[in-house]
Amino acid sequence: KKPVIAIDGYSSTGKSSISKIIADQLGLIHMDTGALYRGVTWYALQHCLNENGEIDLNTLFSSFNQIKLEFKNNDGTLILFLNDTDISTEIRTNIVSDNVSLVAKQKEVRDFLLQSQRTLAEKGGVIMDGRDIGTVVLPNADYKFFLTASIDERTNRRFLELKGLGIEADKEQVKQNLIERDKIDSEREIAPLKQADDAIVIDNSALTKEETIQLILSHIKK
Ligand code: C5P
Repeated sequence: KKPVIAIDGYSSTGKSSISKIIADQLGLIHMDTGALYRGVTWYALQHCLNENGEIDLNTLFSSFNQIKLEFKNNDGTLILFLNDTDISTEIRTNIVSDNVSLVAKQKEVRDFLLQSQRTLAEKGGVIMDGRDIGTVVLPNADYKFFLTASIDERTNRRFLELKGLGIEADKEQVKQNLIERDKIDSEREIAPLKQADDAIVIDNSALTKEETIQLILSHIKK
C-alpha cells in the first residue's frame, strides 16, 4: 500500500516544491494545503470586503457555499481553480500573502477545508504539505517531516520564487511577511504551526532541494 506522508514546516522551507517532486517519484498525489487557504483568502478579497477595504469575516463565513476550490493537473503541475477560474498566479500575490494568516486562523475556515484534505488521504498514496498536517489533518500519517531553515535563506528562496512568477517584490518586505505569518501561524489557538511529536525534523538551511529530497526519501525507503 502506498504511504501517506505529512510535510509541515515554516514558510518558504521548500515544502511544496519538494513534496511535488517526491510525489512524482513515488507515484503519489500531492496536495499543497497552503494553496487552499490562499484560495479562500483570494475569494474573500474579491467578494467579502467591508467599506474600509478589509476582509469581513462574517460575510466570508456565510459564503462558503459559493466557494469551489479544485486542483487540476496540467502536465504534472497542479493548478488551483476557484469556481472554474485558474487562480494559481493570484494566490501568490503580496495582497494574499499579507492576509492569508488572518483568514487561516479562523476556526470556520479551517473546518471548511478540513474534510476535503482528509478525504483525499483515505485511500493512501498521498503527500500533503502545510502547517498542521501531522498534528491535526493526518495524525496517523505513515511518515511525518517538519522542515525548518534560517530566515535569511527562506527570504532568498521566496524572493526567487516570486521573481520566477514575474511578481515584483522587495526583499525586506518578503522577510517581514515570512516573520509575521510564522508568528500568527504559530501563536493561533486552532491547529497552530508546530512539529508533531513523532515528526522527523529537517533543517535545510545548508541543503539543496535535491539533498532535502534524498534525506526524506532515505527515511521512507528504510
Ligand atoms: O504554504 P503557504 O505559505 O502557501 O501557506 C500560506 C498560509 O496558509 C500559511 O501562512 C498559513 O497561514 C496557512 N496555512 C495553514 N495551514 C496549512 C497550510 C497553510 O494555516 N495546513
